[in-house]
Order: sequence, then C-alpha cells, then structure tokens
Amino acid sequence: MINEKMLALGSKRSIIREIFEYCKARAAEIGADKVFDFSIGNPSVEPPKEIAEAINELIKNESPVLLHGYTSAQGDAGVRRAIADDINAKFGAGVDANSIYMTCGAAASLTISLRALLNAGEECIVFAPFFTEYRVFIENAGGRVVISTPMERTFQIDISDFESKITENTKAVIVNSPNNPSGVVYSEETIKALCAVLEKKQKEYGHPIYLIADEPYRELVYGDVKVPYLMNYYANTVVCYSYSKALSLPGERIGYIAVSPKMENSTQVYLAVCGAGRSLGYVCAPSLFQHVIKKALGAKVDVNIYKENRDILYNALTEYGYECVQPDGAFYLFVKALESDAYKFYERAKSKEILVVPCDDFGVSGYVRIAYCVDKQRIVNALPAFKALAEEYKK
Ligand code: PLP
Repeated sequence: MINEKMLALGSKRSIIREIFEYCKARAAEIGADKVFDFSIGNPSVEPPKEIAEAINELIKNESPVLLHGYTSAQGDAGVRRAIADDINAKFGAGVDANSIYMTCGAAASLTISLRALLNAGEECIVFAPFFTEYRVFIENAGGRVVISTPMERTFQIDISDFESKITENTKAVIVNSPNNPSGVVYSEETIKALCAVLEKKQKEYGHPIYLIADEPYRELVYGDVKVPYLMNYYANTVVCYSYSKALSLPGERIGYIAVSPKMENSTQVYLAVCGAGRSLGYVCAPSLFQHVIKKALGAKVDVNIYKENRDILYNALTEYGYECVQPDGAFYLFVKALESDAYKFYERAKSKEILVVPCDDFGVSGYVRIAYCVDKQRIVNALPAFKALAEEYKK
C-alpha cells in the first residue's frame, strides 16, 4: 500500500494551480490575450540586471567544480557569511554564518523549519488569510493547524483572538507580512502586541513558542511602509526567506532560513534545522544560485511596476463598486466577492474570462485574490470585463 495522504495530496492540486492550469488550456483555445489570468503569484517584473551579470561573471571566472558541485549541506560558508553580513547591515540582528541555512526557496524554508520545531500533535497558529500550503507543510511535519481570525476589513491580526487560540500545546506561529493573499503589512504596533502575548504565554506554559517569519515579499512594499524585522522584537524567531519574489527568481529555488542568535537554544535549533534539511533531502541548495545571490546582494527589482498595477486595479475596482483591501505590499488584491459564495463569484467572473482565486482555502470565505503581477496591459484590457461583472450584480 502506498502512502494514502501523499496520494491524496498529489491527486488534488491546490486551487491556485488548478486555475492556473485551466488558464493555460483556455489560452490555447481562445488566445492568451483574451484570457485575463490573475491566478498565480509568478513575478512579472524582470530580475535585476545584477543577476545576469553575476551569472555571466561567475561562468567566465569561476571553476565549474565550484559552481556546479556540492556545497556544504547547509550552504557555502562564504555565501552564508555574506548573507549574514547583509542582514546585520540592514537590521542589526547579530546573525552569523552559522545562523543561516540555504534552502530551495520559502516552501523549503518553511517545511524544514516546521519539521525542526514541531513534535507530533503540537499546534502551529496561522493568521487568516494565509498561504494555502501552510496546511500541507504543518501537517506533513506532524503538527496541527490552528487558525486565528483577523480584524474585519483591515485584515490585521486580531490580538485577542490570537491570544485565545494559544494553548499549552502551541509550539509555533507563522507570520507572513507582506501577506499573501491580502497584501496587508502588519503594523509595528500589531507586531509588538503579538510578541508581548507570546512572551506572556511562553512564561505561563514554561516552554518556548517559536515565531516563524515567512518573508518572501519583504522587499515588495509601496511608499514608505516599513516591515518590522521580527528577530528584533522576539528572541525565539526563525526567518524563512526566499529570493523568489524579491529578485523575481521563483524557478531558481533559492532562499534561506535564519535562526535568531538571541534565542536561548539557538545552536540546538540550528542543528535541528540541519537535521530536518537532511531528513527531508533538502541539502546543498542550488550551488550556482547560492553564488549568484552572494554577488547580487543588495540588488532590487523595480517595485514601482507593481505599484502602478496596484493603483490601476485598486482605483478602477473600487470605482466600479468592489470592496478591496488596499495592499501595502506583495502583489495581490484581496477583493470581497459580490455574492457570499466566493466560488460562485469565481465561476461568474470566469464566464467573462477573468480568472481570480476564491479564498476559502486561505481561511477567509467570501473573498477572492487577484494576483496583479502581470503585464499592465492585461489589467487595462480586463477592466471592462470587471466593470460588466459588477454591473451584472447590480441588476
Ligand atoms: N510563502 C508565501 C506566503 C508564498 O506566497 C509563497 C509562494 O507564493 C511561498 C511561501 C513559497 O515561496 P517559494 O517559491 O520561495 O518557495
């Protein structure tokens, strides 16, 4: 008998992937320009030029054995040192090379961290709306998912709901800001309140509760919005970082885990991360891209391109009567469906060739997610269809 749980996971794609696959098939049928695909968070902005320059320089000047060979299981020491220096320069967090574990992106960072921190049956709190794969990652680590419901309309964390969800069995909490799917950035005030609750509950229950900061969108913020660096607010923090969105490199599978040196048992947690990476087969993240990242540290994508998309979409949709959460970061617009069943709304939008994602699996019903990491022209072309859809509901 094969593993039934894995069979079930493999047989049913995530709703995002399901819709994305539909979009590809539909585009082949009627033409890509007629399908308004807003399903997936695939960055539309080019990687910064420093990436191609780094690849070219490395290939020209470095030995193929270095570039394509194994690194240490936890990543090349020089790369980890450079990343630690970069984190310290930005946030003064005091990490060193032995706080960093190189990974294949945020999905691997999360999978490894959860496996390192959770024992069977322990609880991990997630804040709705949350990235759908958290459930898969937590359950695969043997943990139980506990959902904290957000504040109405702002979708900030509801601190009293959060406090009520913590039990003796709570081992970890995942915070994702800027958030997928709401685009909300949790304010410093919210983060301070959250950390105060965690400190209190750790004392009450006499064991650590770990804060996992899932940060693939950290750099994608608009205006002067600040994203608090969680290690500086709470000692028991593990940062799960990825260059997928920040540098538009999702296909290269590169990121890292940073274990806060301020945590009491940081060496043991780091070793457990190494052990989890080993047990899951996530050792030696792609070598070439480890070295590319080292060379291109500090490079940035042009966030203004996403901001322009956000402004066009948000302004038009609110004018047509949609209720949207104004995103401060990431590249998603969280929109209240025009009927209570988001799935029915999705079907109706689909009949106008608009493909958005119903958010029930993200832990909030009655909302859809629009991924606006697409060419601006697609948004402009889709606006009449969004308008017609809103008008249909007014009739
Ligand atoms: N976490 C969040 C919140 C995401 O939105 C994503 C991808 O969309 C991931 C993690 C996984 O990112 P990666 O492609 O780096 O594995």
